[in-house]
Amino acid sequence: MTDALTPACTICHRALWQDELAAYACRLCTERIDRDLRTLAGPEGLYARLSLVLAPGRGADGPAVSGSRTAPLPVRLEPLSLQARGGVVTVLQTWLIDFHERLAYRHPRWEGTLQGQLDQAVARLRVLLPWAAEQHEAVDEFAREVATLRRQCEGQLSGEPAPRRVPVQCGCGHVLRITLDTTGARCPGCETQYGHAELLELPLAERRAAA
Ligand SMILES: [Zn+2]
Ligand SMILES: [Zn+2]
Repeated sequence: MTDALTPACTICHRALWQDELAAYACRLCTERIDRDLRTLAGPEGLYARLSLVLAPGRGADGPAVSGSRTAPLPVRLEPLSLQARGGVVTVLQTWLIDFHERLAYRHPRWEGTLQGQLDQAVARLRVLLPWAAEQHEAVDEFAREVATLRRQCEGQLSGEPAPRRVPVQCGCGHVLRITLDTTGARCPGCETQYGHAELLELPLAERRAAA
């Protein structure tokens, strides 16, 4: 829980340093967002590598399977939905539009392939990130969404499902759904702000209907 009068990072809820006082996000959280953005972009990035898992066994660079006669697997839907319009690129473009609107900049223009658009959006978001950390009151939401995109892509590439969300109960009775990676959260019921360690100490929400 954070004293409302103490300026705190809206993402990790740590008290801000003196030189960060005007900010919504602390330096560490800002660096984490930047890292997450960078891992998504580029020819070796997570987004590009989703192509490798779209149709297993068909990659030209994949390990040679001599004499394989297995039927081709259907295109996998989860990586496809991340890679298609409406997925990673659209989420980032939506944030970029939001940034531009708040800054009264012209609406950004998209050109080229989805990969090219992704790289452009990431580059632009990284340029504007210091501004967002300092002046965008929803930067915590931005951080969460970028981290989620990264986890979803990594989950597809590693073949592991996205981390399970665990329901925990706030003192007011409201249930928060967190993962082990959740850096902090605010209870929508009573507005209490929880840091990472505090969230993990909350009791698990009862599953009453389990029968
Ligand atoms: Zn922080
Ligand atoms: Zn609460």
